[in-house]
Amino acid sequence: MNTFKLPVCRTVSALRQEIAHQKTTLGQRVGMVPTMGALHEGHLSLISQAKEQNDVVILTIFVNPLQFGEGEDLESYPRRLAEDVSLGESVGATLVFSPDPEDFYDPNHQTTVTNSGLENLYCGQFRPGHFNGVLTVVAKLLMAGLPDTAYFGQKDYQQLFLIKRMVADLNIPVKVLGCSTIRESSGLAKSSRNEYLSAEELQKASQIYQVLQEAKKGLVNGLNWSDIHLKGIEVLVNSGFDEVQYFEYLSQDTLMPISDNSTPGVLIIAALIGNTRLIDNLEISS
Ligand code: AMP
Repeated sequence: MNTFKLPVCRTVSALRQEIAHQKTTLGQRVGMVPTMGALHEGHLSLISQAKEQNDVVILTIFVNPLQFGEGEDLESYPRRLAEDVSLGESVGATLVFSPDPEDFYDPNHQTTVTNSGLENLYCGQFRPGHFNGVLTVVAKLLMAGLPDTAYFGQKDYQQLFLIKRMVADLNIPVKVLGCSTIRESSGLAKSSRNEYLSAEELQKASQIYQVLQEAKKGLVNGLNWSDIHLKGIEVLVNSGFDEVQYFEYLSQDTLMPISDNSTPGVLIIAALIGNTRLIDNLEISS
């Protein structure tokens, strides 16, 4: 029996049955918000936006083993389904899809989705196979629910770019919408992984956004990118980050580096505090 506040589907066939039911009772437009759970205000803003634009809002909660590399936090990743279902319901989710990994991935599965252009750059360089796992799970989720629109955060900029590319390349009949990043008052982008940080580390972590803003000012004022780049890394290292994996200025259209100050561009950063990996970005439009 379902003891949750919303219907919680554990299999693709249960999801399809429930969507069919909700579509006929609630209307026709379906939104989907894929997450790994441990919901925070960033996720909730995606769900609220989905609710504004749809009658049926599928919240998916699935810690996807395929996107975690060896030595990453698959086992320790926070899991709290009951709390997440309540939170999702409070901002407009109408049903939850939370499959068991063993059911969702057939033991004999052999097919994955790969991006041949950007899979191994930026985050992909430091997390081999990560985007392959992300694209595969997102393709499966979109095909399982066939929403009109799926909502993703701009916080995961490269992920959003690759998902848009996949949906176009594979003719998946779903509109992909990117939603603004929700931040702490310090500027730190909200993330489920912020839970791993102490109060002091959270303070340090907020430097990422400061560096992004300073870099944006620099670019807008015509400073040289290599100077901005060096300065940004220096600030992060001096603030106590253990490693800066990348700090890049990319074209919004191609996600390839731009050497001059042209726009529309996006600044992206990944840096580590201990084992906790933090990413963020800032767009620069003309
Ligand atoms: P996750 O559970 O980390 O896989 O994230 C699920 C979705 O929420 C992804 O589309 C993320 O980009 C989005 N998301 C995560 N953090 C934020 C944030 N601070 N603001 C807006 N969206 C976010």
